[in-house]
Amino acid sequence: MLLSGKTALVTGSTSGIGLAIARAFAAEGARVVLNGFGAEEEIARLSDELGARHIGADLTDPSAIAAMMEEAGEIDILVNNAGMQFVAPVDQFPTDKWDLIVALNLSAVFHTTRLALPAMKARGWGRVINTASAHSLVASPNKAPYVATKHGVAGFTKAVALENAQSGVTVNCISPGYVWTPLVENQIPDTMKARGLTREQVMNDVLLAAQPTKKFVTVDQVAALALFLCRDEAAAITGANLSMDGGWTAQ
Ligand code: NAD
Repeated sequence: MLLSGKTALVTGSTSGIGLAIARAFAAEGARVVLNGFGAEEEIARLSDELGARHIGADLTDPSAIAAMMEEAGEIDILVNNAGMQFVAPVDQFPTDKWDLIVALNLSAVFHTTRLALPAMKARGWGRVINTASAHSLVASPNKAPYVATKHGVAGFTKAVALENAQSGVTVNCISPGYVWTPLVENQIPDTMKARGLTREQVMNDVLLAAQPTKKFVTVDQVAALALFLCRDEAAAITGANLSMDGGWTAQ
């Protein structure tokens, strides 16, 4: 199997995109380390299903990240996927939410990556895959911190890819458009409020308005691309920001 003998840490993998990536990696024989929040029973069930360990570190806390990386041991594949969204105009944006979004969407990517890299470099093989977003390339109103952090992730990806270009470690980000996950579903009420729209209007006129295919991206499509980046055939792909957005950023 493609990932036999490899250890993969996928942050934010108790739900949505991260869970699909964890499932795809486990199916290819990886030892998976799950991270993320959720009901204890559900996490136990997922860990069983994937033969995975779960470390429930809160990634907004750098000391919890350090403890997680210590507990996880040497990682071959790091997927920085945990992320959060909050929708409000910038002059009404709660400052504590700004701090949380920056900590999770951007600073956590720095902390996990800096701690995972030494072992990858020592072994001469590694994969860092960051879940960015179409919002790493373009903006939408009412999402200033999200857009800022996702642009940050894309820049961080390029810099770290260059630093490690000759080490056998590739560093890339995947930038999905709208993927139907709890993160998207949960922002519908706030967008309804911020823009005075109905649920149907938010789905069709706001979310899918940007996506020329008029279809949500699926979590399995994102997972398939993450898996491809782990192949030896993907060794020349580094520093890339790979769009999977139904044509959104082609416009
Ligand atoms: P989701 O809400 O379904 O899952 C988020 C995961 O992150 C969950 O496992 C959750 O428990 C975990 N998490 C949240 N806060 C955490 C914290 N403080 N510490 C540790 N884990 C935490 O979201 P999703 O839609 O699957 O999003 C995953 C990633 O994909 C995010 O980075 C998001 O920005 C990005 N993304 C999503 C979409 C989309 O349309 N869904 C589009 C582009 C990018």
